[in-house]
Amino acid sequence: MTDDDLSVAWRAARPPVAGVHLDSAACSRQGNAAIDAAAAHARHEAEVGGYVAAEAAAPALNAGRAAVAALTALAPGEVVFTTGSGHALDLLLGSWPAERSLACVPGEFGPNLATMAAHGFRVHALPVDELGRVRTAELAAFLQRDRPALVHLTGVASHRGVAQPVAETAEVCRAAGVPMVLDAAQALGQIDCAVGADAVYSSSRKWMAGPRGVGFLAVRDTLAQRLVRRIPPADWDVPFGVLASFEHVEANLAARVGYSVALGEYVAAGPERMRARLSMIGAATRSRLDGVAGWRVCEPADAPTAITTLSPPPGVDPARVRSWLIAERRIVTTVAEVARAPFELTAPVLRVAPHVDVTAADLDALADALAGALAEAPLGDN
Ligand SMILES: *Cc1c(COP(=O)(O)O)cnc(C)c1O
Repeated sequence: MTDDDLSVAWRAARPPVAGVHLDSAACSRQGNAAIDAAAAHARHEAEVGGYVAAEAAAPALNAGRAAVAALTALAPGEVVFTTGSGHALDLLLGSWPAERSLACVPGEFGPNLATMAAHGFRVHALPVDELGRVRTAELAAFLQRDRPALVHLTGVASHRGVAQPVAETAEVCRAAGVPMVLDAAQALGQIDCAVGADAVYSSSRKWMAGPRGVGFLAVRDTLAQRLVRRIPPADWDVPFGVLASFEHVEANLAARVGYSVALGEYVAAGPERMRARLSMIGAATRSRLDGVAGWRVCEPADAPTAITTLSPPPGVDPARVRSWLIAERRIVTTVAEVARAPFELTAPVLRVAPHVDVTAADLDALADALAGALAEAPLGDN
């Protein structure tokens, strides 16, 4: 794996890293332009007042909405900012108009399942293959037999670098007249999300490398028209559409401005190029790490994402290894605990998620550290 124009530009556009950052599925490193734009907005709030500065920020935020629209095949007017993906799902399900039932994959993100339960949704399992991907050939019959009010698809999981067939699933759902909601928290940036979903949501800090505490929800107008406004209550005579009501809450405008800049940078870099490089990096990461010090790669070598998960050698606790990697080697990764996918994951895994600027030396450093962690410290289950 060698540098290309993209990796060089991505690295040059952000502060130098202190150590090795392999954690973009949790939180990427922001670029200088996004950091500076957010800081400039905060400064402008102090100069002219927060509500006056908000008006001045409207064009920047509209550019952010336009970038989301381009990446999701929805319209800029169908996009609202949220505080993240979980917030977006909570807003959408909380205003769901009709029967509360949905279908999702068994490997659905645990916190999403909790939100679905909190809103009283009955949850059915979509037919999947041995990797937990939707069997699209069986989907039409499934939807006819067991018709849910919506299909919720997490395009790329948090606990495994496997991509769902999002375009094919969207097509079958459209033909069946069942709305499809796409959780693009991990998918946006890694795989194509402009696939015809009726609602898409994502987070700023992951593959878009924007600030924390911001995200978006985009809802196709025909679906948005059917949602029932919760606040203010639907029967109050106020001139608010449902989508507008979602944004009518206190928000960190500086973070939205920073996110809009990050989205613009991603689009300018070229979504296809970014996805291709991330996919190549995933393959390189898996081939470098599989078998190192007894760790095993969980996903297929050619899964089209930059997420690699590693299951530990017997008796080794990934959570303790993660802490050791940070403390002793300044290498940042994440542990995916079983709670992330309670119906698919059976034991915690170490998640490695480099962005486009990762180097072969970074991966060598991790491989070396995984061996060192076992040799230098007892990192077992207790
Ligand atoms: C991170 C993540 C979420 C939640 O996103 P937040 O912005 O933290 O609310 C939802 N789904 C998946 C697949 C995720 O990886």
